[in-house]
Amino acid sequence: MKADHFEQQKLLDLAAEDVALTQLAHRRRTLPEAAAVEAAQEAERTLSGDVVRAETEVRDLGREVKRLESDVETVRQREIKDQRQMDSGSVSPKELTNLQHELDSLKRRQSDLEDQELELMERLEVAEAALKAAQEGLEKAKADRERAEQQRDDALADLTDGTSRHEAARAEVAAGISAPLLTLYDRIRSQTGTSGAAALRHRACQGCRIELYGNELAAVRNADPHEVLRCENCSRILVRTAESGL
Ligand SMILES: [Zn+2]
Repeated sequence: MKADHFEQQKLLDLAAEDVALTQLAHRRRTLPEAAAVEAAQEAERTLSGDVVRAETEVRDLGREVKRLESDVETVRQREIKDQRQMDSGSVSPKELTNLQHELDSLKRRQSDLEDQELELMERLEVAEAALKAAQEGLEKAKADRERAEQQRDDALADLTDGTSRHEAARAEVAAGISAPLLTLYDRIRSQTGTSGAAALRHRACQGCRIELYGNELAAVRNADPHEVLRCENCSRILVRTAESGL
Protein backbone atom coordinates (compact mmCIF):
# COMPACT_ATOMS: atom_id res chain seq x y z
CA MET A 1 0.00 0.00 0.00
CA LYS A 2 1.11 3.52 -0.73
CA ALA A 3 0.03 6.67 1.03
CA ASP A 4 1.32 10.18 0.95
CA HIS A 5 4.33 10.53 3.23
CA PHE A 6 2.83 13.63 4.88
CA GLU A 7 -0.41 11.77 5.54
CA GLN A 8 1.57 8.96 7.13
CA GLN A 9 2.97 11.52 9.60
CA LYS A 10 -0.58 12.26 10.73
CA LEU A 11 -0.85 8.65 11.87
CA LEU A 12 1.59 9.55 14.64
CA ASP A 13 -0.81 12.21 15.95
CA LEU A 14 -3.61 9.69 15.72
CA ALA A 15 -1.50 7.12 17.58
CA ALA A 16 -0.70 9.67 20.31
CA GLU A 17 -4.43 10.26 20.84
CA ASP A 18 -5.12 6.52 20.90
CA VAL A 19 -2.33 5.89 23.41
CA ALA A 20 -3.75 8.67 25.60
CA LEU A 21 -7.27 7.20 25.30
CA THR A 22 -5.98 3.71 26.16
CA GLN A 23 -4.22 5.10 29.23
CA LEU A 24 -7.38 6.93 30.31
CA ALA A 25 -9.44 3.73 29.92
CA HIS A 26 -6.83 1.81 31.93
CA ARG A 27 -6.91 4.43 34.68
CA ARG A 28 -10.68 4.23 34.78
CA ARG A 29 -10.49 0.45 35.30
CA THR A 30 -7.79 0.67 37.99
CA LEU A 31 -8.79 3.89 39.72
CA PRO A 32 -7.24 3.97 43.24
CA GLU A 33 -10.13 6.24 44.29
CA ALA A 34 -12.57 3.44 43.45
CA ALA A 35 -10.57 0.95 45.54
CA ALA A 36 -10.62 3.49 48.39
CA VAL A 37 -14.43 3.64 48.18
CA GLU A 38 -14.64 -0.15 48.41
CA ALA A 39 -12.34 -0.18 51.45
CA ALA A 40 -14.42 2.59 53.08
CA GLN A 41 -17.64 0.69 52.37
CA GLU A 42 -16.18 -2.44 53.93
CA ALA A 43 -15.13 -0.50 57.06
CA GLU A 44 -18.62 0.99 57.28
CA ARG A 45 -20.24 -2.45 57.01
CA THR A 46 -18.02 -3.80 59.80
CA LEU A 47 -18.80 -0.85 62.09
CA SER A 48 -22.48 -1.07 61.26
CA GLY A 49 -22.39 -4.68 62.49
CA ASP A 50 -20.64 -3.52 65.67
CA VAL A 51 -23.42 -0.97 66.31
CA VAL A 52 -26.17 -3.58 65.81
CA ARG A 53 -24.44 -5.96 68.25
CA ALA A 54 -23.91 -3.19 70.83
CA GLU A 55 -27.55 -2.07 70.47
CA THR A 56 -28.75 -5.64 71.06
CA GLU A 57 -26.59 -5.94 74.16
CA VAL A 58 -27.85 -2.63 75.59
CA ARG A 59 -31.47 -3.60 74.84
CA ASP A 60 -31.08 -7.04 76.42
CA LEU A 61 -29.41 -5.65 79.55
CA GLY A 62 -32.02 -2.90 79.83
CA ARG A 63 -34.78 -5.50 79.68
CA GLU A 64 -33.00 -7.54 82.35
CA VAL A 65 -32.68 -4.49 84.62
CA LYS A 66 -36.42 -3.79 84.24
CA ARG A 67 -37.25 -7.39 85.08
CA LEU A 68 -35.14 -7.18 88.25
CA GLU A 69 -36.70 -3.84 89.19
CA SER A 70 -40.10 -5.43 88.86
CA ASP A 71 -39.00 -8.40 91.01
CA VAL A 72 -37.65 -6.02 93.68
CA GLU A 73 -40.96 -4.12 93.63
CA THR A 74 -42.96 -7.33 94.07
CA VAL A 75 -40.83 -8.31 97.09
CA ARG A 76 -41.16 -4.81 98.53
CA GLN A 77 -44.96 -4.85 98.24
CA ARG A 78 -45.02 -8.21 99.96
CA GLU A 79 -42.85 -6.82 102.78
CA ILE A 80 -45.18 -3.83 103.24
CA LYS A 81 -48.17 -6.16 103.33
CA ASP A 82 -46.50 -8.44 105.92
CA GLN A 83 -45.35 -5.49 108.01
CA ARG A 84 -48.89 -4.02 108.05
CA GLN A 85 -50.27 -7.35 109.15
CA MET A 86 -47.68 -7.57 111.94
CA ASP A 87 -48.37 -3.99 113.00
CA SER A 88 -52.16 -4.53 113.04
CA GLY A 89 -51.92 -6.49 116.30
CA SER A 90 -54.60 -8.85 115.06
CA VAL A 91 -52.30 -11.83 114.49
CA SER A 92 -51.59 -14.74 116.77
CA PRO A 93 -48.07 -15.20 118.21
CA LYS A 94 -47.57 -18.18 115.87
CA GLU A 95 -48.60 -16.15 112.85
CA LEU A 96 -46.35 -13.35 114.07
CA THR A 97 -43.35 -15.72 114.13
CA ASN A 98 -44.20 -16.97 110.62
CA LEU A 99 -44.56 -13.42 109.36
CA GLN A 100 -41.23 -12.48 110.93
CA HIS A 101 -39.55 -15.43 109.17
CA GLU A 102 -41.10 -14.49 105.87
CA LEU A 103 -40.10 -10.89 106.31
CA ASP A 104 -36.46 -11.90 107.01
CA SER A 105 -36.44 -14.11 103.95
CA LEU A 106 -38.00 -11.31 101.83
CA LYS A 107 -35.32 -8.88 102.97
CA ARG A 108 -32.58 -11.34 102.01
CA ARG A 109 -34.25 -11.85 98.65
CA GLN A 110 -34.55 -8.10 98.13
CA SER A 111 -30.88 -7.61 98.98
CA ASP A 112 -29.87 -10.35 96.51
CA LEU A 113 -32.01 -8.85 93.78
CA GLU A 114 -30.60 -5.38 94.42
CA ASP A 115 -27.04 -6.75 94.20
CA GLN A 116 -27.89 -8.38 90.89
CA GLU A 117 -29.48 -5.18 89.67
CA LEU A 118 -26.39 -3.18 90.61
CA GLU A 119 -24.14 -5.58 88.73
CA LEU A 120 -26.40 -5.41 85.71
CA MET A 121 -26.45 -1.62 85.84
CA GLU A 122 -22.65 -1.63 85.72
CA ARG A 123 -22.68 -3.97 82.73
CA LEU A 124 -25.31 -1.79 81.08
CA GLU A 125 -23.11 1.26 81.60
CA VAL A 126 -20.17 -0.50 79.92
CA ALA A 127 -22.42 -1.66 77.07
CA GLU A 128 -23.80 1.86 76.58
CA ALA A 129 -20.27 3.28 76.42
CA ALA A 130 -19.36 0.60 73.84
CA LEU A 131 -22.46 1.48 71.82
CA LYS A 132 -21.60 5.18 71.88
CA ALA A 133 -18.05 4.42 70.69
CA ALA A 134 -19.39 2.15 67.93
CA GLN A 135 -21.89 4.80 66.81
CA GLU A 136 -19.16 7.45 66.70
CA GLY A 137 -16.95 5.05 64.75
CA LEU A 138 -19.77 4.42 62.30
CA GLU A 139 -20.41 8.14 61.84
CA LYS A 140 -16.73 8.67 61.08
CA ALA A 141 -16.68 5.70 58.69
CA LYS A 142 -19.74 7.09 56.93
CA ALA A 143 -18.07 10.50 56.52
CA ASP A 144 -14.90 8.76 55.26
CA ARG A 145 -16.94 6.79 52.74
CA GLU A 146 -18.78 9.88 51.52
CA ARG A 147 -15.47 11.73 51.12
CA ALA A 148 -13.99 8.75 49.23
CA GLU A 149 -17.03 8.68 46.93
CA GLN A 150 -16.65 12.38 46.23
CA GLN A 151 -12.96 11.91 45.40
CA ARG A 152 -13.78 8.98 43.12
CA ASP A 153 -16.51 10.98 41.38
CA ASP A 154 -14.11 13.91 40.89
CA ALA A 155 -11.47 11.56 39.46
CA LEU A 156 -14.04 9.98 37.13
CA ALA A 157 -15.22 13.41 35.99
CA ASP A 158 -11.59 14.34 35.18
CA LEU A 159 -11.19 11.12 33.20
CA THR A 160 -14.42 11.78 31.33
CA ASP A 161 -13.25 15.31 30.47
CA GLY A 162 -9.87 14.04 29.30
CA THR A 163 -11.50 11.29 27.24
CA SER A 164 -13.83 13.78 25.53
CA ARG A 165 -10.92 16.08 24.71
CA HIS A 166 -8.80 13.29 23.24
CA GLU A 167 -11.75 11.84 21.32
CA ALA A 168 -12.42 15.24 19.74
CA ALA A 169 -8.72 15.66 18.88
CA ARG A 170 -8.63 12.14 17.44
CA ALA A 171 -11.68 12.80 15.26
CA GLU A 172 -10.05 15.97 13.93
CA VAL A 173 -6.83 14.13 13.01
CA ALA A 174 -8.72 11.15 11.54
CA ALA A 175 -10.71 13.52 9.28
CA GLY A 176 -7.45 14.41 7.51
CA ILE A 177 -6.46 10.82 6.74
CA SER A 178 -7.70 8.94 3.67
CA ALA A 179 -10.08 6.05 4.21
CA PRO A 180 -7.85 3.10 3.13
CA LEU A 181 -4.96 4.20 5.37
CA LEU A 182 -7.32 4.89 8.27
CA THR A 183 -8.99 1.49 7.84
CA LEU A 184 -5.62 -0.25 7.90
CA TYR A 185 -4.58 1.75 10.96
CA ASP A 186 -7.81 0.91 12.82
CA ARG A 187 -7.50 -2.78 11.98
CA ILE A 188 -3.96 -2.86 13.41
CA ARG A 189 -5.06 -0.81 16.42
CA SER A 190 -7.73 -3.37 17.30
CA GLN A 191 -5.00 -6.04 17.18
CA THR A 192 -2.47 -4.21 19.36
CA GLY A 193 -5.07 -2.79 21.73
CA THR A 194 -3.38 0.61 21.71
CA SER A 195 -2.28 2.19 18.44
CA GLY A 196 -1.97 1.22 14.79
CA ALA A 197 1.16 3.19 13.96
CA ALA A 198 4.48 4.08 15.53
CA ALA A 199 7.41 6.30 14.64
CA LEU A 200 10.70 4.78 13.56
CA ARG A 201 13.12 6.60 15.82
CA HIS A 202 16.86 5.90 15.92
CA ARG A 203 16.14 2.75 13.90
CA ALA A 204 13.75 1.43 16.56
CA CYS A 205 9.98 0.99 16.33
CA GLN A 206 8.51 3.18 19.07
CA GLY A 207 5.53 0.85 19.34
CA CYS A 208 7.41 -2.27 20.45
CA ARG A 209 10.90 -0.74 20.97
CA ILE A 210 12.54 -3.33 18.72
CA GLU A 211 15.48 -2.00 16.74
CA LEU A 212 15.76 -2.76 13.03
CA TYR A 213 18.92 -4.22 11.60
CA GLY A 214 20.25 -6.16 8.65
CA ASN A 215 17.94 -6.83 5.75
CA GLU A 216 14.93 -5.30 7.45
CA LEU A 217 16.78 -2.04 8.02
CA ALA A 218 18.07 -2.06 4.46
CA ALA A 219 14.56 -2.60 3.11
CA VAL A 220 13.21 0.32 5.13
CA ARG A 221 16.12 2.49 4.07
CA ASN A 222 15.55 1.76 0.38
CA ALA A 223 11.76 1.94 0.46
CA ASP A 224 9.81 4.59 -1.39
CA PRO A 225 8.87 7.44 1.01
CA HIS A 226 5.20 6.92 0.14
CA GLU A 227 5.27 3.17 0.72
CA VAL A 228 3.36 2.17 3.86
CA LEU A 229 5.81 0.12 5.94
CA ARG A 230 4.95 -2.25 8.76
CA CYS A 231 6.95 -3.31 11.78
CA GLU A 232 7.64 -7.02 11.44
CA ASN A 233 7.49 -7.44 15.17
CA CYS A 234 4.30 -5.61 16.26
CA SER A 235 2.65 -5.10 12.84
CA ARG A 236 2.22 -1.36 13.41
CA ILE A 237 2.57 1.01 10.50
CA LEU A 238 6.14 2.24 10.74
CA VAL A 239 6.26 5.98 10.13
CA ARG A 240 9.59 7.40 9.03
CA THR A 241 10.58 10.79 10.41
CA ALA A 242 13.67 12.99 10.39
CA GLU A 243 14.78 11.17 13.53
CA SER A 244 14.51 7.68 12.06
CA GLY A 245 18.28 7.38 11.77
CA LEU A 246 18.19 5.88 8.30
ZN1 LIG B 1 7.00 -2.54 16.42
